[in-house]
Amino acid sequence: MVIAIDGPAGAGKSTIAQIIADKLDLLYINTGAMYRAVTWQAIQEKIDLKDQGALAELTRRCNIIFRDNGKKIILNGVDVSREIRYPEVDKHISDIVKLPKVREIMVERQKQLGRIGNVITEGRDVTTIVFPDADVKIYLDASLEERAKRRYLQFESKGHPLNQDQVKRETARRDKADSSREHGPLRVAPDAITIDTTDKDIQQVVDEIIAIIKREVNAC
Ligand code: C5P
Repeated sequence: MVIAIDGPAGAGKSTIAQIIADKLDLLYINTGAMYRAVTWQAIQEKIDLKDQGALAELTRRCNIIFRDNGKKIILNGVDVSREIRYPEVDKHISDIVKLPKVREIMVERQKQLGRIGNVITEGRDVTTIVFPDADVKIYLDASLEERAKRRYLQFESKGHPLNQDQVKRETARRDKADSSREHGPLRVAPDAITIDTTDKDIQQVVDEIIAIIKREVNAC
């Protein structure tokens, strides 16, 4: 069984996917964390972010492993769970994720992970490109204000006190980059169920998605 969730930054995808993974004993594949790990490594190695060949080669060299069912990200043997959430990763990631050669390698790896068993995955293209035949497809959304507020609080809790307007501008910039890029853009799959999380708490959304999953499983 594959449960796929797409949506913009701050819609609640990773928090919700992680809870559902633990509850239903599913393997959690956080595709954004995989792109973040490559971006972090590119920054460390000071690779020219316009050099697609070098970035594709770097992507191939990046061995990314999820531990504790997606709570920890291990890159080439090192725990980078904290580092991949640094604001500088958010700043540069759009330059890397738009590159078709990088996406091709990542999509193939994500598909391979999906063959392991029952999975829940989230990102920008998991309902459309990585798992177009997923059993359940969800599009999680929320207003820009709410998503920027959540991102701001997340940064603050991790010791990065950014300016709230700055986070809102950065979120809007990433939204635009994610939905306008040519390869793997953020789209609502025609058969996805859209859930607006703006005025809902985490538990409500978790319950709603679990009810959808149960309905689909019973229909099989
Ligand atoms: O989900 P998260 O915000 O951690 O993802 C970080 C970035 O990785 C996103 O802004 C998006 O540009 C990119 N991404 C992507 N395709 C995915 C998942 C994430 O391009 N499947």
